[in-house]
Amino acid sequence: MDSLEQLACWAFECDRTQLYLGDYEADEENMKMFHEALDSYARGVPVQYITGETEFMGLELQVNPSVLIPRPETEVLVERVLQLMGKEGFASPYILDLGTGSGAIAVSLTKHNPLCRIVASDISEEVLEVARANAALNGVTDRIRFILSDLFNGIDENEKFDLIISNPPYIPADHYDALPLEVKNEPRVALDGGEKGLEFYRKIIPESARRLKEGGHLVLEMGFGQSEAIKGLADDTGSFVQTEIIKDHNGINRVFFARKRK
Ligand code: GLN
Repeated sequence: MDSLEQLACWAFECDRTQLYLGDYEADEENMKMFHEALDSYARGVPVQYITGETEFMGLELQVNPSVLIPRPETEVLVERVLQLMGKEGFASPYILDLGTGSGAIAVSLTKHNPLCRIVASDISEEVLEVARANAALNGVTDRIRFILSDLFNGIDENEKFDLIISNPPYIPADHYDALPLEVKNEPRVALDGGEKGLEFYRKIIPESARRLKEGGHLVLEMGFGQSEAIKGLADDTGSFVQTEIIKDHNGINRVFFARKRK
């Protein structure tokens, strides 16, 4: 469905077939919703914020302007982690998801692998509310613990994880202004990765080396052209082996994997 069809179906409470057959009722309230939706859309508000929902890994998730809209690229990360969990020794891992946002990663991992347990953190309580709602919507609340935390600050130092996962903000600060209007209507804190977009990796990678169990995995989404620098940061710790870089469906290096040495 294109964006306008989605907005019409949302405002008139019908599906695409009904829309084209005229099989819907549009009272004054529906028309008002449709007009307001078109106004917002024209101002560059993403369709997902207008309808309040999106799809990720085949699951329905709620979104609002406090969270980044989950991207298809991130499904590449989730699929790879699910594959990893299919392997011996990682069937029921203890996972940290840093900067969970809408909860897309945490909710889809627990939904597709009921054996994993996740600590999902975010710096904003407003954001955690969305993530909690998505866990509830998908029936995985009992397997995810949500923690208000600025990266590792609120995470118990004594806890060690099998997997640390993050899709941190990675747009270079000096590219931010040139982003499309719709993207700039998403939260800047979820996008702006500071100098070269690498600020969060500089913090996450060395600290992950301390917080992972031996043999545990670090899994990070990254932006265009960042894989060499990120591999360099991991190499600098001296703690990681078996680094792997996975491309997204556009052939861009998108997911960084590294394993903590035993
Ligand atoms: N993939 C997002 C975009 O380019 C960026 C997400 C992020 O910074 N983690 O729109």
